[in-house]
Amino acid sequence: MNAAKRLEIFRRLHEDNPDPKTELAYNTPFELLIAVILSAQATDVSVNKATARLYPVANTPQAIYALGVDGLSQYIKTIGLYNSKAKNVIETCRMLVELHGGEVPQTREALEALPGVGRKTANVVLNTAFRQLAMAVDTHIFRVSNRTGIAPGKNVVEVEHRLMKFVPKDYLLDAHHWLILHGRYVCVARKPRCGSCRIEDLCEYKEKTSYD
Ligand code: SF4
Repeated sequence: MNAAKRLEIFRRLHEDNPDPKTELAYNTPFELLIAVILSAQATDVSVNKATARLYPVANTPQAIYALGVDGLSQYIKTIGLYNSKAKNVIETCRMLVELHGGEVPQTREALEALPGVGRKTANVVLNTAFRQLAMAVDTHIFRVSNRTGIAPGKNVVEVEHRLMKFVPKDYLLDAHHWLILHGRYVCVARKPRCGSCRIEDLCEYKEKTSYD
């Protein structure tokens, strides 16, 4: 895909949604960090339901750590893998208090040292909470990047590096959200909705069909 096409794709995505947001509910970097840890292999809706109960009671590392694994589990047991997530969150809270003064660190290295925080989660926090240029590639972004030809790659790290290189600079900060939302609601996994897609004429997907 050439640069002019990429520019036009992001121009349209921006035009349709000038201020894209994550669908996870949060008010602070810490709340976002915990929500992203909880969202692994779970829907944002299920995470939001759990954090809507949890955060009014405990929304700081100190307060969640005080709940302990069993106490935290009571709030998140509707989420898949809640047991291991509870352990990771409690350990993360302990490290935030002991190593970072109760604050969420703003570097990839420090974030990835926290239990339950991998490259993707670190990128979401850096980009969404701290507005740094970082690209979290999830299953939706991986699919959209490959199908469209915006940034094809064999694995998520390859796609991440190509997106960082190829997405026009003016759109890089919000590209993560546009691509996730496009993959979640339009370029869906099984039957992409090419017939109602804003970028159909620019997309290089070879098997385009309209299901709308
Ligand atoms: S045209 Fe189809 S395959 Fe291409 S981005 Fe749109 S929905 Fe996805």
